[in-house]
Amino acid sequence: MFNILNKMNITKTIKETKEIIKRAKSKGLSTGFVPTMGALHKGHLELIRKAKNENDFVSCSIFVNPIQFNNKEDLKKYPRPIEDDIKKLEELACDLVFIPSVEEMYPEPDTTIYNFGNLEKVMEGKHRPGHFNGVAVVVKKLFDIVEPGRSYFGEKDFQQLAIIKALVKKLKMPVEIVPCPTIREKDGLAMSSRNRRLTADEREIAPVIYMALKDVSKLASGKNVKEVKDYYFQQLGKYPQMKIEYFEISNIEDLSPVEKFEKEKKSIACTAVFLGKVRLIDNVIINL
Ligand code: AMP
Repeated sequence: MFNILNKMNITKTIKETKEIIKRAKSKGLSTGFVPTMGALHKGHLELIRKAKNENDFVSCSIFVNPIQFNNKEDLKKYPRPIEDDIKKLEELACDLVFIPSVEEMYPEPDTTIYNFGNLEKVMEGKHRPGHFNGVAVVVKKLFDIVEPGRSYFGEKDFQQLAIIKALVKKLKMPVEIVPCPTIREKDGLAMSSRNRRLTADEREIAPVIYMALKDVSKLASGKNVKEVKDYYFQQLGKYPQMKIEYFEISNIEDLSPVEKFEKEKKSIACTAVFLGKVRLIDNVIINL
């Protein structure tokens, strides 16, 4: 069961996952963990690669977590190419992939409510009620099962990363959270499992989001926050297919809104944009 013939362990139950992890730990191996919802792309695979470089035993989970979806249609349409995903993980010599069912993770509804204060009230939290509570519930459950020494999260979901760091701090969990840079397509579009739902026309204009964000980070040295925000809305406004849900410039530490750019305080520009029916998020750090 444990890496026989260097084959990847594929588990579906909490019990067998815990057993394999326990055996790895009893051999003194360091453990890395990458939670995902599958439909793996190069962004996810970079997280696995980094985890493999930094740990002896790497686990990945694939679980489309229903309680973090506030939109039923999005949950239903979420891609689930499980065979492809397994192949990609095998190619990277991932040691274990945990693919639980909804019943395995939630034998009964989980009623835990976390309070992340302002962190969960802005941006994604404001527009996707319950989303971060659902993320925190599932990540806590997964950490309890896998008990990783390190866990890897992408900066593409910057607010999620902040929530996970806060969760770990709040519950004093002995896991190091490792942030990983956003991986992009050649034309700048941030890789996302949702990109495959874009039509050819939508895919062609999608890089405009990152182009405008990059301009924003440059403009921040000479313009004020309002001017920079106006610029972003103007750029995306040229494309009727794009609907900006939010564009915020926030303090990089606590994600509170920034009213004035200051050299000493790093900020981050974050956005969510509907391109047709597909909701895309992206961000860029503003370093004056
Ligand atoms: P998801 O499957 O969308 O829940 O993502 C699983 C993990 O992969 C999260 O930590 C994401 O932030 C990370 N991730 C997703 N897309 C990218 C990307 N383009 N670059 C870096 N990390 C990413």
